Parts: sequence; structure tokens; C-alpha cells
Amino acid sequence: MTASTKQRKEPRLLDVSYETLDAAVQELKDGGLVAFPTETVYGLGADATNSDAVAKIFETKSRPTFNPLIVHVKDAGGAALLAEFNPLAQKLSQKFWPGPLTMVLKRLDASPLSLLVSAGLDTIAIRVPSHPIAQALLENVGVPLAAPSANKSGTVSSTAGMHVASQFRDGIDIIIDGGSCEMGIESTIIDLSGDSATILRHGAITVEEIEAEIGPIKDSNDGDIKAPGMMKSHYAPSIPLRMNVMPEDRLKGEAYLTFGPDAPKKAALTLSKTGDLREAAANLFTMIRALDQPGIRGIAVMPIPGTGIGRAINDRLMRASAPRDEGESQ
Ligand code: AMP
Ligand code: MG
Repeated sequence: MTASTKQRKEPRLLDVSYETLDAAVQELKDGGLVAFPTETVYGLGADATNSDAVAKIFETKSRPTFNPLIVHVKDAGGAALLAEFNPLAQKLSQKFWPGPLTMVLKRLDASPLSLLVSAGLDTIAIRVPSHPIAQALLENVGVPLAAPSANKSGTVSSTAGMHVASQFRDGIDIIIDGGSCEMGIESTIIDLSGDSATILRHGAITVEEIEAEIGPIKDSNDGDIKAPGMMKSHYAPSIPLRMNVMPEDRLKGEAYLTFGPDAPKKAALTLSKTGDLREAAANLFTMIRALDQPGIRGIAVMPIPGTGIGRAINDRLMRASAPRDEGESQ
């Protein structure tokens, strides 16, 4: 079978087994695309050293090629083969890897990565996922995997195998169904390629946790420094979404997504009844998807505290509610 006929096939949604892992490893080695669970969200993986395979990710997601991808490696040793692993990176990797922290580091000249992965930048974004399936793939494929979130560009990230299957009719070879993602929100991205540390994207590891390790860090959301591809409109359901909506401000036909013990009983769904921000983060994308239905005019979200992982939740809600007419998405 040729590569092009292969690409038109529907993805195979497979339960976790040794056979599934073997098949997925083979697809990746052959330059195919495999969606797999991580502790954050589902990733759409390809061999990061194979430009044809990486190009398929951009094509399948309809992702603009100026928006670089995160490279996943097995361990810190794997990262040090690709990028300048400076003392700050070493310190953070010891604390947070494997786990949901992505570091932007200076690319090594000797790095075997496809140039397409980093969209022509001289830096690369790298992380070591903790999920056993992601780890098993990395171990057995033996190359770094480029893996952005497994969703169409600009839409809500996938936190279950079915979310991936329902969005992609073709382009992906295998989807490994490993159940729901533990964190449910993307990794935190920190730029360590310069002299200081700057948060580029709020995510599953909080600023407070990072600052406890390395002291005060800058935040790109407070100034002009921007990560490529951090679009105003992103994570968007197909119906309008409004954030910070008090119970009395709901509009007719809107579904109310609530948070905390004070939430009105008549909510469509509740992110966390007890006001637990980690639980809310894990439920966020799944519940937005569940409410994104014909017949519902929009989603109104109750205010959510902006502390800890609440910053990442509010960042996603802000982008999900931003005007969609900018023609920008990832
Ligand atoms: P996703 O893979 O969908 O989680 O998005 C990855 C995000 O990582 C992109 O939107 C970029 O903002 C960021 N990113 C990837 N590579 C780099 C890089 N070299 N420098 C800065 N940001 C990056
Ligand atoms: Mg994404």
C-alpha cells in the first residue's frame, strides 16, 4: 500500500494492548501519525526527525506552519541530545520531568530534528511525558516524537480517544484509546533559551510551583513577548462561549457551566462541586465538548478563581471566548 492510499484511511481506534503498541510503533517508524494519551491531553504524534511525517501533522490539523510543535522525549538525557540543556533546565527537569512542563531551549546544531518542527526558530520546545503509553511509545520507537494536541487547529483539545476519532476522518493511522487524561489541560511552557525564565503558556504546572524552585519568573502574558502560535482565539467550541457569567446574567438558551459549592443547582454541568481547581481543569475540555451541541445557543461559564491552575483554566476560557474572525488559530 502506498503512503497516499494509507493516509485516506479512517483512523483505527484501538484499546491499549501489546499488539496496539507494536502497531503504533510500526506506524511511527513508517512515517505515520499516531494519536496517543498523555497526562495532559491527547497528542498527535509523528517521528520528529522525519520532515514528511511532521508535515502530515500540520496538514492533518490544518495548523499554520509558523506555529511550532512540542517535541516529546523519553528522558532528560534525550532532551540534552537535541537542545542546550542549561543549569536552569537541569534544575526544572529534575523537579518536574516526567510531567507537564515544556521547556523552550536553544536547539543544538547537531540536533537530528526536522526543521519544520520548530517552524524555522533556533529554539525547540521539549518535554518528557509521564503517561505510561507515551513513555512506552518513546521507548520503543527510539526517536523523539513531535506531538501537538490531537484536535483540529483552533478547536478544543481532546481528552479522550473518542474526541480524536470524532474530529479526524482521515490522516491519522492509529488512535490509542487510553481513557481520560489525568490533568485535562495542556502543559505549561517556559522559555529558558535566554538569560531568564519566562512563562509562555500557563498550564498544568503552576507558576507558584515553578517559582518555588527557581524564584521569580517573567510572564509573557504581562508584556510583549509572545510565543508563536499563542492565538487570541483558540480552544473554541462551535457555539459562542462567555466567561465570568454570574447566575443572574445567564441568557436564554445558554448552558451554564458552574464551579464551586455556591453554584446554582440548575446548572447544565459543574466543573467541580467542591471548588477543586485540579478537578475543574481535568473536566474543562470534556464538559465544553459535552455542551457544544445543536440546540444550545452558547455556553456561559461561572467565574473561576485565577490562582494556581485556575490561571490556565481562565487563559483557555479567554481564548475560547475571543472573537473568531481573526483567521488565526492553531
Ligand atoms: P500544542 O502543541 O498545540 O500544545 O502547542 C504548542 C505550543 O508550543 C505552540 O503554540 C507554541 O506557542 C509553543 N512552542 C512550540 N515551540 C516553541 C518555540 N520554539 N518557542 C516558543 N514557543 C514554542
Ligand atoms: Mg493545541
